[in-house]
Amino acid sequence: MKTETWIEELVEQLTLDEKISMIHGGGLFRTSGVERLGIPPLVMTDGPIGIRADFEDTKWIPCGMTSDYTSYFPSGSALAATYNVEMAKKNGQVLGAEARGRGKDVILAPSINIKRTPLCGRNFEYMSEDPKLVEEICVPFIQGIQENDVSACVKHLAANVQETERMSVDTIVDERTMQELYYKGFIAAIKEGNSYSLMGAYNKLNGEFCCTSKQLLNDVVRKEWNYDGAIISDWGGTHDTVDAAESALDIEMDVHYDFDNHYLANPFKEKILNGELSEELLNEKVRNILRLMKRLKMIGDQKDERQSGSFGTLEHHQAALDIARESVVLLKNENARLPIQTKGLKRIAVIGENGIRIHSNKGGSSELKALYEVSPLLGIKKELGGNVIVEYAKGYECVDKLESIYDDEESWQASSTQEVDISKIRVDAKSEEEDRLLAEAVALAKSCDEVIFIGGLNHAYDLEGVDREDMVLPYKQDRVINAVLDVNPNTVVVMVAGSPVEMPWADKAKAIVFQYYAGMEGGTALAEVLFGKVNPSGKLPETFPYHSEDCLPVQLGEMRKSGCITFKEELKVGYRQYDTEQKEVAFCFGHGLSYTNFEYSNLSVKVNETNDDVTATVTLNVKNTGNMDGKEVVEVYVADQECSVWRPVHELKAFTKVHLKAGEEKQVEMKLEKEAFSYFNIESKKFIIEEGAFTIEVGASSRDIRATQTITLHSHQ
Ligand code: BGC
Repeated sequence: MKTETWIEELVEQLTLDEKISMIHGGGLFRTSGVERLGIPPLVMTDGPIGIRADFEDTKWIPCGMTSDYTSYFPSGSALAATYNVEMAKKNGQVLGAEARGRGKDVILAPSINIKRTPLCGRNFEYMSEDPKLVEEICVPFIQGIQENDVSACVKHLAANVQETERMSVDTIVDERTMQELYYKGFIAAIKEGNSYSLMGAYNKLNGEFCCTSKQLLNDVVRKEWNYDGAIISDWGGTHDTVDAAESALDIEMDVHYDFDNHYLANPFKEKILNGELSEELLNEKVRNILRLMKRLKMIGDQKDERQSGSFGTLEHHQAALDIARESVVLLKNENARLPIQTKGLKRIAVIGENGIRIHSNKGGSSELKALYEVSPLLGIKKELGGNVIVEYAKGYECVDKLESIYDDEESWQASSTQEVDISKIRVDAKSEEEDRLLAEAVALAKSCDEVIFIGGLNHAYDLEGVDREDMVLPYKQDRVINAVLDVNPNTVVVMVAGSPVEMPWADKAKAIVFQYYAGMEGGTALAEVLFGKVNPSGKLPETFPYHSEDCLPVQLGEMRKSGCITFKEELKVGYRQYDTEQKEVAFCFGHGLSYTNFEYSNLSVKVNETNDDVTATVTLNVKNTGNMDGKEVVEVYVADQECSVWRPVHELKAFTKVHLKAGEEKQVEMKLEKEAFSYFNIESKKFIIEEGAFTIEVGASSRDIRATQTITLHSHQ
């Protein structure tokens, strides 16, 4: 029987109450099923880095089981830093398998909001400031998840860029900016990734709450994007019954457990019974949910064919390690300071609290009970073995009171729809203790040949519900890093964080490594890079400005603002701003070094243009000219030479990652689609190409362009 006929027949048989029970939370992470018709509840789970531990069905109290420890995978930003679409696929596959292995139907991932500024508290979950990178990473990730008969739930649509007043802030964004930056990842997720479900954002977009916006959900998602998947609200993102009923929202989820009083529960039922709202609105939501269940093989005979998944397996841990290895970004390596030579090494100092910090269990809804998490210190010890003495000093004190929102009997999420008081979380240390830790670190640094400082941020700063105020390193780490560099100028500095930080000591340090939260094997991967077992190949998925005020939305006062933020910067986000303004930055978009060198040659761009379409094939040779095998990310930017509207100086439109043995040369090929040359025209409401010259730039970062070629295109309206 055809799916749509099957759906219609089931809808006919369902009573009003049964249908209502299917479209809202019946537990904190599930809807209700209809047993008499064999319809199971739809069971959901967070999140992007692994399967979250179970809560009691009707209370935010962890079940406290021993069976819900799971694999911890690299965060969205770490995955994006790999610039490796195969890693993205693998990550999706293992995440989906874990979700199914834990009996879940929908995994609330990936998180793909554009990183508009460095300050958003959830940037660590998100992938990039660039929509092309987001698209390329999220599509295989989603496909990988769904191979397991589990639905991805791409989130949070749309323009969810600050945590300050996240439940109510209105984001005012013009249409061109939405089309060129903020919608792109979601369109790819739906059209190419075929994401079976998507989550609405908490914020408002141009005056309407995203979760119930007719403009966003009915006009854009359903009509323009032709989406027939299930639309789920963020937990507590629904605020009105009529809006929820009339919008294309299918399932209302909430953090509150008076489930019958959800807007789409009894209040909706009453309005249907008194004739205020049509039952057809309800039927449409039920159809979308049944279609989702069919896709997931949740009903009828299909159930036997559904995959059963697995979790916590060695294969999954290996995947976590493979991804983590490729996510490490070598920012600076003067005089080949890294890798650290282990021959003859007797005693090494590791300084900094992130050396021993575990990150998996905090940060917000993506927290989880990791089966294990290898800290950097443990990773280093594993790598060096017993012959080398590894000394450790904390260097600085993390006095944050993150526990104040975490360790109550109830999860922080019970009250997560209220603003968090930052001053209760982030507190200053006592200066005597700081001085003592500093002196201890300096003394240790003096007495060792090799020193590795491991600092950065933790989830008191990379935190759902709260933005950062600036990019300054907390706990006065700059003071410690400077002091350690003074006594040992060869100190290697490692920053572990979910977002960019200021590095005022960057000129002084010879080697700087950046690692996003990289999963259960993060410490192993870091150590392998530091000691040369792995050649780093990660690149920055976002620009690192010197200070947050360098970023236009921050300068304009349109970030972390109460009430309403207007995206006055329009397209000038990330490198689209910095590169166009030729502004000095600490580390540019796409930057990342290797222990070897790569040479680019023989660039050729072949255009294939017809009346309706235009594509271009970019080929070039890449040669590993050093002594170590390595991987290089080759980036292709397109620059429109002249246009009747403002365009960024260039935009990333393709990339590829190539593995080259020492001395090896390969030809790489990348395709540019029509989209690569077009901009969104607000009059015709279409992406168009204006006739003229376009420069194709091929480089190792947005500011390290190695070869260019100019092509001329006709107009495509
Ligand atoms: C977050 C979502 C998450 C949901 C369920 C919300 O607070 O914004 O990303 O999936 O909670 O935990």
